Amino acid sequence: MKDYDIIVVGAGPIGSTYSYKMAKQGYNVGLFDMKNRIGQPLQCAGLVSTNICDTGNLPKEYIDNRVRGAKLIAPDNTSITVEKDRTAAYVLDRVMYDKYLFERAINENVTAHLSERVLDVDIENTTIKTADRKYSSRLIVVSSGPTCHTANKINPKIKDEHFLGLQYTIRTEKQDMDYVNLTINHALLPGFIWEIPTSPFTKRIGLFTGGSYKEAEKILQNKLRSTDTIIEKHNGLIPRYNPDKKIVKNNTILLGDAAGQVKPTT
Ligand SMILES: Cc1cc2nc3c(=O)[nH]c(=O)nc-3n(C[C@H](O)[C@H](O)[C@H](O)COP(=O)(O)OP(=O)(O)OC[C@H]3O[C@@H](n4cnc5c(N)ncnc54)[C@H](O)[C@@H]3O)c2cc1C
Repeated sequence: MKDYDIIVVGAGPIGSTYSYKMAKQGYNVGLFDMKNRIGQPLQCAGLVSTNICDTGNLPKEYIDNRVRGAKLIAPDNTSITVEKDRTAAYVLDRVMYDKYLFERAINENVTAHLSERVLDVDIENTTIKTADRKYSSRLIVVSSGPTCHTANKINPKIKDEHFLGLQYTIRTEKQDMDYVNLTINHALLPGFIWEIPTSPFTKRIGLFTGGSYKEAEKILQNKLRSTDTIIEKHNGLIPRYNPDKKIVKNNTILLGDAAGQVKPTT
């Protein structure tokens, strides 16, 4: 007798959404996460296109801001604005949104195993091992984010490549809420710098880069205005998509960042 029909490793937005959908279809799902506080720390700018609504996933209370365009700023500070006459993207409260997706799964009778790190996924036998014990299932879905041991097991010859994402939450002077600023910097390419208003007096400013943390921090610090105060600092990895990466082996599937999928939340 198996412990679950489906074991899901990682209760980020992708693991929680997948668990919810499978439980809704009547499967017995066990959802494992090494954290005990889902969604924290924040590792996202929270900018998603409006087609997130197509997923039926987004209660309005998790939208911090609606933007209708972007200012694209060149290294010499000239800029062009691209805009729509309606909302083009939402800025989410990602911490609360992740919690909401997790709780929705639990309310659909998904069994949660929080603070339970998965130490190994056995692809041959469809079992996982945690510090507590071994669990078996018919299917294992690994959505454990950008650094994924199982992805390396399935793709022993592919070296995972990531960008570094670095972001500050900022208190600032009153600002325009309608646009995000995207700044090109030659040292970051293909990365760029984003400034995303989350309220009239707060914003997220961040960047992604193939370069070092030290270099990234210097560039971001230079971008701050005298009126900006840093409230929080976050960093995380963003996977670089690789079409050669296999995402299925036997009864184990990779999903989301673990699969190297681009912007999997939408
Ligand atoms: C700085 C930054 C800014 C970003 N901005 C945006 C943006 O504006 N818009 C956007 O769409 N995307 C953005 N992203 C990307 C976005 O955050 C990810 O694509 C998204 O979080 C991926 O979701 P996921 O569920 O696949 O993985 P994750 O959100 O990484 O969740 C993985 C979960 O697995 C758990 N886990 C990991 N290992 C184990 C283990 N061994 N055992 C048990 N649990 C485990 C973790 O605790 C975590 O809860 C950004 C990323 C960064 C770093």
